[in-house]
Amino acid sequence: SSAGSREYKVVMLGAGGVGKSAMTMMHKFQQAEFKTIKQRVHPIPQAEFTAMRDQYMRGGEDFIISSEFKELIYRVRHTYDIPLVLVGNKIDLEEFRQVSTEEGMSLAREYSCSFFETSAALRFYIDDVFHGLVREIRRKESSL
Ligand code: GDP
Repeated sequence: SSAGSREYKVVMLGAGGVGKSAMTMMHKFQQAEFKTIKQRVHPIPQAEFTAMRDQYMRGGEDFIISSEFKELIYRVRHTYDIPLVLVGNKIDLEEFRQVSTEEGMSLAREYSCSFFETSAALRFYIDDVFHGLVREIRRKESSL
């Protein structure tokens, strides 16, 4: 990256349709200075996605998926010490809520990360997610 700019590579993990693309796009529209943030497709074998999707269909709970993602990250990075934020998207669809705020906060405590509830559709709290991530990345870097 050129002087004065810094590129952050962000991996968005989540089941299909949860709003990963929408969040990334809304963020880009709003924040020109963060336009270099990229959505990266992660190196997780297709078979594992299929297995997770099957589990998702059976369990019907985002939460199970979230826990499994942490394990997948560990397998790829060999550490749990990675900058991480937890996001519950689509808060505008409150009547279809599947994971409570308390469950989200509890998982975030377990992971020692921040938790955000967002709506990419209404552009609520999207920037907080990315700012939270950048803060987290800098914190981890400065503690090296
Ligand atoms: P991805 O598969 O995780 O990348 O999910 P997408 O970003 O493609 O979103 C899947 C669908 O959910 C699309 O139809 C989006 O318009 C919709 N969507 C994404 N975020 C929100 C949100 O915050 N609220 C609502 N109501 N719909 C959303």
